[in-house]
Amino acid sequence: MRHRILIVEDNPANRELLADWLELEGYEVVAAADLKSAFTAVENQNPHAVLLDIQLGAEDGLQLARWMRQQARFQRIPVIAVTAHAMVAEHERMLQAGCNDYVSKPIDFRTLRHYLEQWLTLSMPANPLN
Ligand code: MN
Repeated sequence: MRHRILIVEDNPANRELLADWLELEGYEVVAAADLKSAFTAVENQNPHAVLLDIQLGAEDGLQLARWMRQQARFQRIPVIAVTAHAMVAEHERMLQAGCNDYVSKPIDFRTLRHYLEQWLTLSMPANPLN
């Protein structure tokens, strides 16, 4: 099964870089450039995981994570924050908002690959045939 990843990122160059890398990794990619399109994409595109830039221009990307954690349908979808912040207090804020993990820019793709594999596996529902 091909997993579909939603990229939420306001910077076009970063968005393209992430999309290209995810496609090379074999993922299907959908993207949103702002918070409003991100909410719509979560509702309509059935992403299996979200890569969330927490600084979307003037908007706080963490609003998306908080909202997803309040919706039964989206609660278990992994959210990995992408951040320019290296401060521990910021990391705490991301986890409290409901993000599963975070990577700092510039992105270490080996770490991101590991997080995606890990969280996609954990979020997978039990096989109903078992
Ligand atoms: Mn940004």
